Amino acid sequence: MKHCVKKMMIGICASAIAATALAERNENPSQWYAEGVGELQRTLQLKPNENHAKNIILFIGDGMGMSTVTAARIFDGQLRGENGEENVLSFEELPYIALAKTYNTNQQVPDSAGTMTAIMSGVKTKAGLIGVNQNAQLGNCKSLQGNAVTSFLEQAAKAGMGTGIVTTTRVTHATPAATYAHTPDRNWESDHDMPAQAKEQGCKDIARQLLEFPVGGGIDVVLGGGRSKFMPVTMSDPEGAMGEREDKRDLSAEWVKKYRNAAYVWNEQQFAAIDPSKTEHLLGLFNRSDMSFEVDRKSDTGGEPSLAEMTKKAIAILKKNPQGFFLMIEGGRIDHAHHQGNAYRALDETREFANAVRAALNATDNKETLIIVTADHSHTLTISGEPKRGNPILGKVVGNGDDGKPNDKPAKALDEKPYTTLNYLNGPGALAVRDSVAKDGSRRDLSEVDTTKPDYLQQALIPLSSEGHGGEDVPIYAGGPWAQLFHRTVEQNYIYQVMRYATFERPKLPDRAAGKTKVQKQKTPARNEQ
Ligand SMILES: [Zn+2]
Repeated sequence: MKHCVKKMMIGICASAIAATALAERNENPSQWYAEGVGELQRTLQLKPNENHAKNIILFIGDGMGMSTVTAARIFDGQLRGENGEENVLSFEELPYIALAKTYNTNQQVPDSAGTMTAIMSGVKTKAGLIGVNQNAQLGNCKSLQGNAVTSFLEQAAKAGMGTGIVTTTRVTHATPAATYAHTPDRNWESDHDMPAQAKEQGCKDIARQLLEFPVGGGIDVVLGGGRSKFMPVTMSDPEGAMGEREDKRDLSAEWVKKYRNAAYVWNEQQFAAIDPSKTEHLLGLFNRSDMSFEVDRKSDTGGEPSLAEMTKKAIAILKKNPQGFFLMIEGGRIDHAHHQGNAYRALDETREFANAVRAALNATDNKETLIIVTADHSHTLTISGEPKRGNPILGKVVGNGDDGKPNDKPAKALDEKPYTTLNYLNGPGALAVRDSVAKDGSRRDLSEVDTTKPDYLQQALIPLSSEGHGGEDVPIYAGGPWAQLFHRTVEQNYIYQVMRYATFERPKLPDRAAGKTKVQKQKTPARNEQ
């Protein structure tokens, strides 16, 4: 606790406090009151950090809406044998928070391509577009002309900062792609994915854009999945099947040739052997497509590092740049588990995402590193049914009786069947072949079903093959230089403005030794094209 005192000033050490409180937790009225007083005191000591942001780490929990955060917080605490509701995830310790409106220019409920373009470029756009403004048309190569928007990663590279992307999805998937690529179609991940006309008109696939990234010293660290997008059709993959590039280019081999002190790794062992002090450009592609879910990671053929391990190594490499760095880290498969209607994996992925944020907090100094943790959009997960305190978050609702004391049997709905706390509004959980509906079309009776198992699909109302995104606002957590600029409800594209201001508009630390404040302003890159 002692080492926390200084950090407490900015509210970073709440988890240590919470952990201590939990170990001794004996909830009573005076404890609730004292905890509130402690929180107030920490808040009164909060001082805005007006330093230049040398480094920015942007964490995106893909699909990590508010209900996902709450459920993951409880899940995480319960795995340690606690009630769970009082638990605090790593990023919930960050001192500032705002809410982001996530809609796309053409969609009330958004997709990841449009939202991440807004976050990275400061300009909202249509669903499906990457690094292109709303004047472009989906799937129309020619409409790219004059409509590309510069991303913050490009601006950082231009200013000589280190740059990196880390994700659990394919590195060519919408969220990572929006940091470096410009394309009128998020699906154009390799040339195999593109229509002939688009290729004839000169559009480049996303993997190729990653390799040919033309700004500054190039991208320094790229870690995630999506190997098949980088391999020629003629080459067999070390984990089975073939590559898919029709232009026959082997982009990972090209990566190693292109850069000095460069390395390409595809499995956990090679990754662990990488010495950050000797590596300047690291490409890691750990799966043909997306990386494994955290709970399934150990069964991967070649072995994969965790999101937290990738985070640590990326920071260790990028930290060497005296100009600072920009690093985007995505917990990309929270979204995928939700689409499958599988709350267990969505919550488990969120836990690992929180581990990655913890690793970043431990590896950086909040005086010079702005850490932003947000989501691109939400999902339809709900937490409901008045379960008693500490009820297993993945379990059936066991409530309190009329006397306020906990029941010992699951509550029953009007159909005389038990129900779970977590459910989806739509998705595969509503399809008869899955866990939700009995053969006669009525809701499946869960009495004999263990709903806490990893593969259980939560019940849903509207049958869809893929559960859908949610349209409500998502949280933005922030700590470090200018994190205080995150407050109230904002448009999602505002996140870019804070990153730009904290890095390029704010002077580097003043030289007070000379008696005068000598400021050295970062070179501001060219204005963003609209
Ligand atoms: Zn999605």
